[in-house]
Amino acid sequence: MALHREKTRRIQVGACAVGGGAPVSLQSMTNTVTRDVEATVSQIEALARAGCDIVRVSVPDMDSAVAFGEIKRRSMVPLVADIHFDHRLAIESIERGADAVRINPGNIGSRQALRSVAIAARERGVPIRVGVNLGSVKRSVLGRHGDDHVGAIVKSAADYVHMLEDMGLDAIKVSLKSSDVLQTIDAYRRFSKISLWPLHLGVTEAGPLQSGLVRSSVGIGVLLEEGIGDTIRVSLSADPVQEVFAGRVLLECLGLRAEGVRVIACPTCARACADVAAISSELEESLRDVRRHAVVAVMGCVVNGPGEARIADIGVACDRKGALLFRHGKPVRRIRTDEIVTVIREELDKETPA
Ligand code: SF4
Repeated sequence: MALHREKTRRIQVGACAVGGGAPVSLQSMTNTVTRDVEATVSQIEALARAGCDIVRVSVPDMDSAVAFGEIKRRSMVPLVADIHFDHRLAIESIERGADAVRINPGNIGSRQALRSVAIAARERGVPIRVGVNLGSVKRSVLGRHGDDHVGAIVKSAADYVHMLEDMGLDAIKVSLKSSDVLQTIDAYRRFSKISLWPLHLGVTEAGPLQSGLVRSSVGIGVLLEEGIGDTIRVSLSADPVQEVFAGRVLLECLGLRAEGVRVIACPTCARACADVAAISSELEESLRDVRRHAVVAVMGCVVNGPGEARIADIGVACDRKGALLFRHGKPVRRIRTDEIVTVIREELDKETPA
């Protein structure tokens, strides 16, 4: 079942189209020191290998802006420069090849400062992401909206977008974030009714790995299911590569990206004939580099095992004597439980076109 997608305008972030029906793209952000070019390039390579379409890099000072230029020359994916407080860093990053800049117009300085960023971006055809967080909405706007914090976020974002449009910018994307998931969902829903610019989805300060995954999945998942959102980032206080794997799973669940291997595993119970938790974790880890779409199943016993293993592309159903391997619904052979990970990998590799 294909999800309905809200219509938005299409912009280009380097080679990656965002909005206007383009596939929902996956973003992450480096957490290296940007001045450390080698470390940053190597993290970008790891993110790209994991399936990240667009990488954001912080540019906190002029040395980082210079490093950004070098990083951009060596990057295989489009790069967004993340700028706060100093508009000169945005201009410098644009001149050094940024494919987009992310700013919070509320902290970038005067209207004139914002205008100079808009002019530089327009001249080079570089989109600007307007990133509004509840934490940075001006007190005056908050005051006018009373308890309606979401209204204040939406109004802030709309005002900034209008300002940039008036300054002649014709490529904008928008994010409206709160660390509260329900507020975030509400903000995107309301903004999507009043604007056609593409939306970057994320739950800000989502949290450590486990709770962050759940919070982001709920926030981003609900919106995508409603057709809202053109590009996503699963923000986690963890290795950014984990963000990309999580984003892949999220998009795959919603049928928005047929990429990567879905590992199905039973929760186990007293009937389990193998350590399914350990085997399925090891399997998922070992298959993370596989970009093509496939479903594999590891099942602990003969109760549900053969049924699920048959439905998957490759599956195993464990029993007291080892495991029965299935391939596209047909039993193939018996294997030992300690070779499940290797055998499934080999079976998948056989099917992957060279
Ligand atoms: S497949 Fe077997 S081991 Fe796994 S949860 Fe079901 S009954 Fe338990």
